[in-house]
Parts: sequence; C-alpha cells; structure tokens
Amino acid sequence: MEFRQSSKLSEVCYEIRGPVIEHANALEEAGHSVLRLNTGNPALFGFEAPEEILQDMIRMLPQAHGYTDSRGVLSARRAVAQRYQERGLDVDVDDVFLGNGVSELVSMAVQALLEDGDEVLIPAPDFPLWTAVTTLAGGKAVHYLCDEQADWYPDLDDMAAKITDRTRAVVIINPNNPTGAVYPKEVIEGILDLARRHGLMVLADEIYDQILYDGAVHHSAAALAPDLVVLTFCGLSKTYRVAGFRSGWLVVTGPKQHARNYLEGLTMLASMRLCANAPAQYAIQAALGGRQSIHELTAPGGRLHEQRDRAWEKLNEIPGVSCVKPKGALYAFPRLDPKVHPIHDDEKFVLDLLLREKIQVVQGTGFNWPAPDHFRILTLPHADDLEAAIGRIGRFLGGYRQ
Ligand code: PLP
Repeated sequence: MEFRQSSKLSEVCYEIRGPVIEHANALEEAGHSVLRLNTGNPALFGFEAPEEILQDMIRMLPQAHGYTDSRGVLSARRAVAQRYQERGLDVDVDDVFLGNGVSELVSMAVQALLEDGDEVLIPAPDFPLWTAVTTLAGGKAVHYLCDEQADWYPDLDDMAAKITDRTRAVVIINPNNPTGAVYPKEVIEGILDLARRHGLMVLADEIYDQILYDGAVHHSAAALAPDLVVLTFCGLSKTYRVAGFRSGWLVVTGPKQHARNYLEGLTMLASMRLCANAPAQYAIQAALGGRQSIHELTAPGGRLHEQRDRAWEKLNEIPGVSCVKPKGALYAFPRLDPKVHPIHDDEKFVLDLLLREKIQVVQGTGFNWPAPDHFRILTLPHADDLEAAIGRIGRFLGGYRQ
C-alpha cells in the first residue's frame, strides 16, 4: 500500500524550508558546520528572550495547563486590543484572535475566506506562506509586483491591472519580508483605495511593525482605513525574539457588520483547533506591557541596525550585486545583475553555494519573484559574521557559472 500526498498539495510551494534544507542537514550530519541564513529565527543568532517575558511565562505556567477560550485568554487579548486602541483604532477584546504564531492565523484567515478559484493579490516578492495557504485553500495567488527601482514599493498600476471579479482580498506585508521595504503612507493609501473601490478584504501582515531603521515610520493599514474590513497580523516571534513560543494575534477592524458571516467561519476554525498554546498566550501581556527592548536593537549603534548596515554595505561591494537598503525587518534581498551573473536556475545557485561554502540562503524565486536574479539573506548574524559570509558569497559568485 503506497500513501501519496494529497493532490491539494501539488501546487503548493514553500521553499524557505525547502529541499535545500535536506542537503544542509546532510552536510551537518557529515560534520560540516552550515551557516543557516534561511529562516528569520533570532534565537539561532544569540538573541535572547526578554527576561520579563520568561519570568511571566514561568509564573503563569501552573495556571496554563488547560485549554483556553478559542480566541485566547482575556488578559492577552486585552493587551493586544489596548495596543491598537493606542493607535486610534476601534478594537475590543472580541476583535482579537490569538494563534500559534502568525502562520496559523494566516492559514485560518485565508481558509475561512476563499471559494475555489477566488483570487488574492499577494506581493512579489512575498513571504511565501501567503501564496502557499491561498493555493491550499483552493484560491489563486495573483502576484502584484513590487518595484525595486522604487525602493521595492508596490506597483499600484500593476496591482490595479490584476484585479478581476474573482479578487477577494489584498495582502500587504509591511515592513516587508524579504525586501525590508517600509511603505510610505501614500502607497498604503493607494492600495486601500483599490480595496475600497473593488470591495476587497485587506490582510495586513505587520509582524515587523516595530523593526524599523533610519527613523522609518510604520503606518498601519487598519489605522488608515477605518471604513474597510482589515485583518492585521502580528506577534511575538520577531519583535520579542521568541519565535519558538509560537505566539501571534490577528485583529479585525472596520465595518465588522459586513463580515459577520466570515467572522463566524473564522471563529469556527479557531475552535476546531481548540486554542493556541496557552503558556505562549501568557507571554503576550508581559511582552506588550514591558520594556520594548527592540528599539535599542534597531536604533543607531544597536545590534540589528549595525548588522543591517554591514550586510547592505558588503553586498553592494560585490561586483554585479546591488541591494536596496532595508528600512525594516531582518532581511536583505540583493539583485544579481544577469549580465555579470547569468543565473538560469536560482535554486541550483543556492544549492551550489551551500555545497561549496556551507552557507544557506534562499533563492528569490522561493519568494515568488519571477526571475532567477535575487536571493535573500538574513541580517540576524553578528556584523563580523555577516561580513565574512558575504565575503565568501562574493568570492563564490566571482567564479560561478551556470
Ligand atoms: N509573516 C511574515 C512576513 C514573516 O516573515 C513571518 C516569519 O518569518 C511570519 C509571518 C510568521 O511568523 P510566526 O512566527 O508568527 O508564525
């Protein structure tokens, strides 16, 4: 008897933990040390969880052994609601859903919305979970281009041209993974205007909303469009460096009376998984109410700021490589000039780099970027490690031909 994967998975693609990882594992098993620059996992690079979060979780642990309300414990939902109220949003605890990371909530939110063949506008490049869950839900991911020449801002004309009568929602990832772009208010307003004109739900992935450099300001889509149904996603993985806790939230804003039926579906999906991991829910109140140490890391002189600077400088020093300066998040998305580095298969490029240099990055096409001319690197390692790794990538590229 052979068990085969469901045909529903045949179109689903998720490369960040894709096939190259098997090769990386095999190298490690053979005794090599592999520099894993593929997943945005701060803990791997010596970032510690803030002490107040750990203390609070430990203190709450004896009370966290039961299932909670499907939407999450009240104290945590209240803390989330307050955070968005401070941004001027009309949010109460019933508008907040807690999940096992943003990933689970993205999956539930999309699953609850789509009929087969419904379309979702998703950026290219994207955080590929959005495309994968849309496809898995029977929908069609329609990618709108972000323009590298314009600091990777979404191309609104391209987006407008791709709206059809099947389009149900638009995804905004701001600050962006993988490009590091932080969108100006006008750009977000342009997207919201399209959503308004075409009756689209807005899915705002704002997990990096506090990881900002150079004075960049984050404009939350929900705050700019109180008249639209906006689902805002955020969580503890990045800002509070506790990705392994799997703790995130989704906040529903706007004219909820137009989404009553949808929200019933979402609530049903939330109850089907009973609840999110309870100890991690208890981390939320401590995180949101405590010292926001992320700002020390992203300010000039802070570790993340310094690493972002070093990665950007060193990438741009490689002949035939250019990189837009990331203004937020934890990544850089450099371009390989096809005239200098004619790469036809960027997955093979990434594999060859891994095998030769023992450095694992992710190919641009893994982020649904249409050409094999980019890759994504993390800015999480210490600056000197990043400099050394980028130096090795540069030397590798110098002698690489496909
Ligand atoms: N959204 C974006 C843009 C991300 O980059 C990530 C993780 O890298 C996630 C969502 C998932 O985060 P979580 O750990 O909360 O599931």
